[in-house]
Amino acid sequence: MEQATLPAPFFLKLPNATLPGCRPIGSLEEWHSPLAKQHKRRHLPMNTTNTTNTTGLLGIICPVDDASVAFADCAACAARGGKPCPFPPEVLAAVVQRRPAFQKAPGEDLVISVTELIKCARRTRLEAIHGYYELLGGLYRMQRGTWIHGVLERLATGEAEKRLEWVFRRNGRVVRLTGKPDLVRDGVVYDYKVTENPPRGRRHYACQCGAEVIKLGRARKYTCPNCGEVGQQAIFSTYDAPAPRTSHTWQLRMYALLLAKAGTPVKAGEVIYLGPKEIVRVPVTLDEAATVARIKAQLDLLFADEMPPALADGSDDAWACDYCPLAEVCKQAPPKS
Ligand code: SF4
Ligand SMILES: [Zn+2]
Ligand SMILES: [Zn+2]
Repeated sequence: MEQATLPAPFFLKLPNATLPGCRPIGSLEEWHSPLAKQHKRRHLPMNTTNTTNTTGLLGIICPVDDASVAFADCAACAARGGKPCPFPPEVLAAVVQRRPAFQKAPGEDLVISVTELIKCARRTRLEAIHGYYELLGGLYRMQRGTWIHGVLERLATGEAEKRLEWVFRRNGRVVRLTGKPDLVRDGVVYDYKVTENPPRGRRHYACQCGAEVIKLGRARKYTCPNCGEVGQQAIFSTYDAPAPRTSHTWQLRMYALLLAKAGTPVKAGEVIYLGPKEIVRVPVTLDEAATVARIKAQLDLLFADEMPPALADGSDDAWACDYCPLAEVCKQAPPKS
């Protein structure tokens, strides 16, 4: 469920970064780089009356005229029928509704959800000092996932959608980590992922000489870089089962840790990818020590004086950059990857 919801606000006052692309919104007017113009066009308010928030997700980019619009103004426009909007008002109301922010208890320095903690730390840091707008279509895609989660939650026979919390100290700061697994049943924690592109298994073919070979169409012929064309009798095949995305593995592991801290440990985890035509179920190996280390490492990136590095090109989580509304700002912000 959480994967489909919007980023929760980040409550910690982060160190001010001295980045060319990372001043508060008001000062961008004075900043004349090409990035500023692009950033302003894509992510700054143009016809909004929102003057309260200046950082984090501020509203949507309108599919009709590309304007950046505060959430309340978007809902009001839909109710008025102001533009030829393809979104029916009731759909739009669901897409632009905001959930209330987590509140810090006295003495807490940070409240953060599992879904926020597994996210790119650089993006979280940039969101804390930048305002931005999401494409309405992107929010709609997330909302569709939320609707599907809601139906499954009602039909589930296990324990669904129970919020878990764990309060601990990290380097003198009091942190509350909170998370809501989609389902816990018979000692297994599950998370649904609504996706157009579930992970797939892959078959590899190798020649007797050890080199990987290329299959030639549907014919039972292969090309080996050492031996040239070889027949099927000279080929070995191996199969890699579908693997969970790295961030999903950490998400399930963190839920398992929260369940253990709550006195209800689980023995296994599974990500259930709900694709357009098929369902792919992928087990996750739980590892409590690695999970604790991961939580510490992510928190250290969030608390550090320096901006964390960008996700490495080609890494398993680099796909997140394609959906990141602060990608242009990220490119300009040191340190470069
Ligand atoms: S573009 Fe990629 S590396 Fe940069 S902040 Fe966004 S998700 Fe992180
Ligand atoms: Zn889910
Ligand atoms: Zn060969």
